[in-house]
Amino acid sequence: NLPAETTEAPVAERTLVLVKPDGVRRGLSGEILRRVEAKGYTLRAVRLLDPAPALLQKHYAEHEGKPFFEPLVEFMLSGPVLAVVAEGEGVIPGFRSLAGATNPTDAAPGTIRGDLGRDWGTKVVQNLVHGSDSPESASREIALWFPEL
Ligand code: UDP
Repeated sequence: NLPAETTEAPVAERTLVLVKPDGVRRGLSGEILRRVEAKGYTLRAVRLLDPAPALLQKHYAEHEGKPFFEPLVEFMLSGPVLAVVAEGEGVIPGFRSLAGATNPTDAAPGTIRGDLGRDWGTKVVQNLVHGSDSPESASREIALWFPEL
């Protein structure tokens, strides 16, 4: 018998995608999930929720102390968030490519933020989606938003 490591497929790569309150409010959840699926990624878990402040503070802990931290948490509390675990080889950088640059004004056409976002003159950049930026962030964030997974 071969050891399990050589016979089993590696654990599939997973990322945490959030459709932020602006995306849900504008009715873009379906369009955003459509793009994730059309790219070939699998939706592993999906949940619409009103996140608690403590969850958002943990989620954005790396930004604590920055000038946009409080407004960012406040913005994320402004309405329901659609939390999604997407799966597939390369999905962490792959979804970041689909999302585009942080600022929708700079984001390339063809990306979620480039096609569907703009500058609304708000303190916080309202850019429709979040995607984990590394395998470590992905596991940490998935554990926060989907403790049962
Ligand atoms: N953000 C902001 N102003 C900034 C930087 C970030 O309002 O100068 C917000 C924006 O909504 C962004 C989030 O904070 O999506 C998290 O910032 P990050 O640098 O992690 O950008 P992302 O990974 O989401 O592109």
